[in-house]
Amino acid sequence: MEEENVDLFEKVVNLTKRRGFIYPSSEIYGGFSGVYDYGPIGVLLANNIKNHWWKNMVQKRPDIVGLDSGIFMSPKVWEASGHVSGFSDPLMENKKNGNRVRADHILEEIGVVADEKMSIEEINELLQKNSVALKKTGFNIDEYSEAKYFNLLVKSNLGDFTEQNDNPTYLRGETCQGIYLNYKNVLDTTSQKIPYGIAQIGKAFRNEISARQFIFRTREFEQMEMQYFVRPEEEMVEYEALKEFRWKSLLSLGIKPENLQWHKHENLVFYAREAYDIEFKYPFGFKELEGIHARGNYDLTQHSTYSGQKLEYFDEEKKEHFLPHIIESSIGVGRLFLAILCQSYTEEQVGDDMRIVLRIPKHIAPIQIAILPLSKKDELSIPASSLFEELSDNFMCQYDETQSIGKRYRRQDEIGTPYCITYDFDSINDNMVTVRERDTMEQERVSISELVVYLQNKFKS
Ligand code: ATP
Repeated sequence: MEEENVDLFEKVVNLTKRRGFIYPSSEIYGGFSGVYDYGPIGVLLANNIKNHWWKNMVQKRPDIVGLDSGIFMSPKVWEASGHVSGFSDPLMENKKNGNRVRADHILEEIGVVADEKMSIEEINELLQKNSVALKKTGFNIDEYSEAKYFNLLVKSNLGDFTEQNDNPTYLRGETCQGIYLNYKNVLDTTSQKIPYGIAQIGKAFRNEISARQFIFRTREFEQMEMQYFVRPEEEMVEYEALKEFRWKSLLSLGIKPENLQWHKHENLVFYAREAYDIEFKYPFGFKELEGIHARGNYDLTQHSTYSGQKLEYFDEEKKEHFLPHIIESSIGVGRLFLAILCQSYTEEQVGDDMRIVLRIPKHIAPIQIAILPLSKKDELSIPASSLFEELSDNFMCQYDETQSIGKRYRRQDEIGTPYCITYDFDSINDNMVTVRERDTMEQERVSISELVVYLQNKFKS
């Protein structure tokens, strides 16, 4: 990572802790690797990101419905999906200190691709062949064990009351399996016809070998996934439409196009028709933000075989049975959250001071409006509190009467609040307040009676 970017990344991470976006899990116990907690401001931003996705994916799409399936499923699901046998990453362990790394990530640093189709022997050969180049980056393969595949599914003993736990159940490694299992239920209980989609937001768990880069790669994370069921011959047309739809949705969230790029998967797993990732330009480089894949009929074939149930679709008009093909879109809430933060962080010189502003797109700002009485005295705090009550019917507001007004503005800038409203001594007589805009710092006097409409218009534009 270039120095400037290391700097930016550190600043973003520090800000998230300082301002209540993200806390490391179990901090008073020294932390718990790969898990993070979303604080009071973070949970608001995450909810806004999820609501935007849901609105685009479900509310505005008559052909897509929502679902919330259980985190636990029959262990057979994970056998059928191939996760029990094949959901693994190549692990290497430092012989001295036990530090674990992913062999494919180490190779990626020097531009060598080790994809999921490779056997462990092939990966170890690649490591040997590139040992000199790796040493130049400071990675000495002699200090590490040979690579071996490590399964990422997280086991639990749910429903198993024996000591051995020979029949583990798993915490789901991805949310989409719950969608496949309910594909028939949804058809039978709604008026959906193919092509149609099911969308779900929920937690997923992976025993990531090296959870790193803050919330980019965690062991517990949230996914937003949509699986779209199509006629086999329409798979690629629908796939192109989904790619375009998702790209536009990210732009409408406020991601800048110059920070996005497509990455085509060259070595596809045998069942896949085509696979692209949308990558975001994080401070540590362009990395996967979202996967959009054409999966053929693999998933339904597997579940049909393992469950013994017919999962074919009957097209009443054409009087035809077929197994639908699936195209999917899958994105992590944490990765999108991090993308928004990295893109929004700015510093600017104001007089002798450095102002940090989080230019979060206004429509997803965690706090929309801050209400700041100029003093704590009753004559200001009482009417300002009433203003909070009134405005919070329409907006996510924060009331703050601590410290100087300058410090309060800075705090709101750092959490990305688009508008601050100051109630001062003149407000008592003229029933007007000062509205300060985050990005320009311009201030305007607005009549309290017109405030709701004024702010609604601001958010609309
Ligand atoms: P990577 O190659 O980065 O490990 P992946 O290809 O395994 O990701 P998918 O299985 O396609 O990821 O998951 C879909 C989406 O879920 C990813 O694009 C990403 O946004 C998110 N995601 C996957 N793994 C993690 C994780 N460990 N932490 C946070 N988000 C994740």
